[in-house]
Amino acid sequence: MINLTAIQLAEIVLGQVIGDSGFTIRNVITDSRVPVSGNGSMFIALVGPNHNGHEFIGELYNIRNIKAYLVEKGEVDYTNYPNATFVEVDDTLQALQKLAAYHRNRFVYPVIGITGSNGKTIVKEWLNQLLFSEYQIVRSPRSYNSQVGVPLSVLQMDNHFDLAIFEAGISKPGEMVKLQPIIDPTIGIFTNIGMPHQENFDDIDEKVNEKLKLFREVKTLIYCKDHAVIDAVVQDNTLLADNQLLTWGQNKESKVQIMSVKREAGKTLVHVHYNNHEHTITIPFTDAASFENAMHCVATMLLLGYSLQDIDTRLQRLQPVAMRLELKEGINDCSVINDSYNSDLGSLAIAIDFLMQQKQHERHVVILSDILESGYAPEQLYSKVAQMLEDKGVDLLIGIGPEISRYDYAFEIEAEFYSSTHEFLLDLKRKEIRDAAILVKGSRKFHFEQISAALERKVHRTTLEINLNAIAHNLNYYRSLLNPGVKVMAMVKAFSYGSGSYEIANLLQFQRVDYLGVAYTDEGVSLREAGISLPIVVLNPSFGTYELMVEFNLEPEIYNITGLKEFINVLNRVGVSSYGIHIKIDSGMHRLGFTPDQLDELIAILKSTNSVRVKSIFSHLAASDEPHHDQFTKCQIETFQKACNVLSDVLGYQPIRHILNTGGIERYPEAQFEMVRLGIGLYGISPTHGDKLMPISTLRSKVIQVKQIKPGDTVGYSRKGIVDTPTTVVTIPVGYADGLSRMLGNGNYSMMLNGTLVPTIGNISMDTCTLNANGVEVKEGDEVIVFGNKPTITDMAKAMGTIPYEVLTSISQRVKRVYFQE
Ligand SMILES: *Cc1c(COP(=O)(O)O)cnc(C)c1O
Repeated sequence: MINLTAIQLAEIVLGQVIGDSGFTIRNVITDSRVPVSGNGSMFIALVGPNHNGHEFIGELYNIRNIKAYLVEKGEVDYTNYPNATFVEVDDTLQALQKLAAYHRNRFVYPVIGITGSNGKTIVKEWLNQLLFSEYQIVRSPRSYNSQVGVPLSVLQMDNHFDLAIFEAGISKPGEMVKLQPIIDPTIGIFTNIGMPHQENFDDIDEKVNEKLKLFREVKTLIYCKDHAVIDAVVQDNTLLADNQLLTWGQNKESKVQIMSVKREAGKTLVHVHYNNHEHTITIPFTDAASFENAMHCVATMLLLGYSLQDIDTRLQRLQPVAMRLELKEGINDCSVINDSYNSDLGSLAIAIDFLMQQKQHERHVVILSDILESGYAPEQLYSKVAQMLEDKGVDLLIGIGPEISRYDYAFEIEAEFYSSTHEFLLDLKRKEIRDAAILVKGSRKFHFEQISAALERKVHRTTLEINLNAIAHNLNYYRSLLNPGVKVMAMVKAFSYGSGSYEIANLLQFQRVDYLGVAYTDEGVSLREAGISLPIVVLNPSFGTYELMVEFNLEPEIYNITGLKEFINVLNRVGVSSYGIHIKIDSGMHRLGFTPDQLDELIAILKSTNSVRVKSIFSHLAASDEPHHDQFTKCQIETFQKACNVLSDVLGYQPIRHILNTGGIERYPEAQFEMVRLGIGLYGISPTHGDKLMPISTLRSKVIQVKQIKPGDTVGYSRKGIVDTPTTVVTIPVGYADGLSRMLGNGNYSMMLNGTLVPTIGNISMDTCTLNANGVEVKEGDEVIVFGNKPTITDMAKAMGTIPYEVLTSISQRVKRVYFQE
């Protein structure tokens, strides 16, 4: 709760109030897309590389009833919003940061600030797992550690907490100086230093120095003395005295000294010496990263006064931290989102936002356990949860656990309560949740994995996993190449290049692309039925579907006279005028479109009717990614531009113009016109900009049988896989009916099995294929990566002699898609 009047806030951020200076601001939002209650919320209009928050004020004011805004000078015409209060500043991000720094100063309890290249979120979550029984802890939701995420995290601080844990991440010099006064940590943890974001720093010392700025005012800094680079920079730094450093490591001068480390089944035994005490503590993990993260927690607890014995007992509480939200297909036409991330209000809010994004279902259900580590007293906690569910528009709560059940009266939305997971599962057999998006979110001890298992559709053992964050990342990368104001049509034809329909469209709508492009009318209809409201262009509509298009508000590509006449007939019949259409010009591809000599006839028809309105004129490049055709491409662009000029002259208005696909966006910045059409790049593939993109899909399968065969034996149909040495053959359940081309058999392609690339052996069958796993330790159930980070889709396309587009779109619908968001 911020609880400041507009005038108080204006003083803090050095701004001016326009409107009611007594208006009380209780909380702030920066994301115009997520649902909140209008009451006391202030929208901060941030200006980012891809979005200008000021553009959304109209929607927030008219539809969402938000009454207060923090805006930049000159961006808003205040007379349009007579009932709103504005605070006007030069720079809204700076103002948000000032506000957070002010808010931070209201509290005197300890604040732990964590930075470093890896492990920030885990250390934060683990400290919470270890300390929540003594402390009321406020912490960053998930990995909110950016220039915007940090202030939003700090604004959660409140008087009833007594410990705060915030993480800070930076990607370039100059950022940490801004985060330091906002977090103003009293205890610092420097996790480690590695390569992420190295490109913006001259060298590693510069990066360490920049991160160290977070700890300028700490009482104590914790780090691992075995990290020589960090140690050297810290020692050179004159701001921190030796008695402010709490180091750990095997280095003899570490204050928390590791005498020995022994790994055993599933755990690591660490003999530790600290302040004349010795003890062997047990970390319930064996990997190096978990060891390091746990040791940071150990040092922090020693600083807070816990004994090594006590720490040892508590370490057994540590649970792995799941970093992502998964969306899976459920039974009874439901979608299930699984979030086993530790429950706190911040991450609950994020998970519910993801739930509400699932527009394919009208009903949104939350299954929630007792929240164990929130830092709030139960009564206050559940009334906050109740308010959140209501504000965000959740339709049904299923509360599981004695505590949430005790506070059932706090919930005004439809709700059911069960005292245990077992009781709910018994009831689930009798009741049916249909056609709903369901968020399953429970503290670990409630074993909600049993609920997800009951709700999810059982899947074929091969899945195509889609990373929604990667799609957003790729979209934003291409946006960064666009001139200001250029719109984006995202191509979601062919099941979004094989990766999904409404699941992808929901994300793109949330990311505010301007248009969606599909190939056929039925693809557009499915999107509308799934609740997608963006404008949709149908590139290849058949005449018979024109009425359906009008019914579902889909806009056709018009590429010939017959189509145009037919469409106008339909519009006349249903009595619609000024319906949006998109005129395709054939500038040299010679597939679909009006050639320049057909323009006169086109114009004559357009002039004779008011049924249609040309929303855009476009064309398609034949070889945008091939430099040896650049001359031809330039001619295409010129032909297109001329046609546009002719058309707009006679129409008397200027339709949107667009010609660039992915390759074109990369190579012809001068031809962006008013819009571009982004396809394959969104899905992570580009011949030239590939290193800037994230792969979005991983095709995973599992070993279902392992065999040892002898020299002279053969594998598979037609006995093509002949072996001359003893050979380990593994079978996985993916075949050509799943989209695995037969061209990939007989050693023409390799897949990743337990860290090694292993070749196919023998022919690919319809439902299975076989791999030669010689030299690899393998057992049934081991995972096989068919493509993903390595091998990549491009590797597979090369082995097939085709292009990645074909690989992506060939994965059959029988392979279940699983979506996740980090
Ligand atoms: C598929 C398609 C695109 C997208 O092309 P990419 O190369 O995948 O970016 C753009 N425009 C039209 C007309 C298309 O059919």
